Amino acid sequence: MSAQILDGKKLAAKLKARLKEEVAAIKSKNHSVPKVINVMIGNDDGSCAYANSQKRAAEEIGIEYELKTFPIDISQEELRGHIQQLNQDKGVHGIMLHRPVPEHIDYHLVANCVDTEKDLEGINVSNIGKMILGETRILPCTPASVMEHIKSTGMDIRGKEAVVVGHSGIVGKPLSLLLLEELATVTICHVATSEAGRLQEHVGRADILVVAVGRPELIKGAWIKEGATVIDVGINRIDSGIVGDVEFETAKQKAAYITPVPGGVGPVTVVILMRNAIESYKVQTKGA
Ligand code: NAD
Repeated sequence: MSAQILDGKKLAAKLKARLKEEVAAIKSKNHSVPKVINVMIGNDDGSCAYANSQKRAAEEIGIEYELKTFPIDISQEELRGHIQQLNQDKGVHGIMLHRPVPEHIDYHLVANCVDTEKDLEGINVSNIGKMILGETRILPCTPASVMEHIKSTGMDIRGKEAVVVGHSGIVGKPLSLLLLEELATVTICHVATSEAGRLQEHVGRADILVVAVGRPELIKGAWIKEGATVIDVGINRIDSGIVGDVEFETAKQKAAYITPVPGGVGPVTVVILMRNAIESYKVQTKGA
C-alpha cells in the first residue's frame, strides 16, 4: 500500500476559501472585519517567517492584520501593559503572542493576560478549561489543524484507537482532548513511554497516530499499523533539510493517509488562527 498524502496546502486553500466567504458576509452586514494583532518581541528569523505567512493568510481571507514588534529587552510589566491596552481596544478582536519570547519573559503569565475573548491561540487557562468542557469554539491552533487533517479523510473517529506521541500543553494534551471529544480511545505517549521501551507497542496499535515530539524520524515506518492515519506535527531541521518525527518513506508504505513535513500540519495551523479570529469577532460583536 502507498498512503494518500494529506496535502496541507490544498486543505488550507479550501478552508481559506470558506473563511473568505464568511468574512465577506460579515463585512457586508456589519461594515467591519475581524482585526488581529500579532505581538512579537525581537525579530527572530523563524518568527518573522511565521508572521509573514500569517499576514498572507489574513490578507487572502480579508482579515485586518497588524504586527506589533517590541524590543528584545522589554520588561514583563511593560509587555503586560501593552497587552492590557489591546484588550481594551474595541477595534482589536484577536491577539496572539509570538513565541519564542526572551528568557526574562514568562510566556504563560503574559499569554494569560490576553482577554479570553481575544485569545486567538486558545491557550490561555480559561480557554483550555472551556475546551475541556466543550464550551468554546476557539481551539488551540495546532491541535485543531491536526483534527482538520483527520476529518479530511472522511473517517469516523468514534471508537478508533488514537495514539498521541508527545504531551506538551500546546499540542499533545489539548489534541488528546479533542480526539476524546470525538470518542476515540486515546493513549498519550511521551518520553517515559520510550524509556520504558513501550513506544513501538503503542504506535503499532494506532488507527490514528499523531506525533508531536521534535525528534527526527523517531517513529519507524515498520512500527505503523497497516492502514493507519498518520499525522506528523514534528518540525526538525537536519543537514538535508526539514523532516518530521516519522520516517516518511517507510511509513508511507504502511499508512492509508499521511501528512508530509513540511507542507502538512503547518499550513493549516495558520488558517485555524484566522478561523479563531473570526470566532472571536463573532463573540465580541455578539454574532452581529
Ligand atoms: P515539547 O518539547 O513541548 O514536547 C515534546 C514532547 O515529546 C514531550 O511530551 C516529551 O515527553 C515527548 N518526547 C521527547 N522525547 C521523546 C521520545 N524519545 N519518545 C517519546 N516521546 C518523547 O514539544 P512541542 O512544543 O509539543 O512540539 C513538538 C514538535 O512539534 C516540535 O518539532 C515542534 O517544532 C512541532 N510543532 C509544530 C507545529 C506546527 O504547526 N506544525 C506547531 C507546534 C509544534
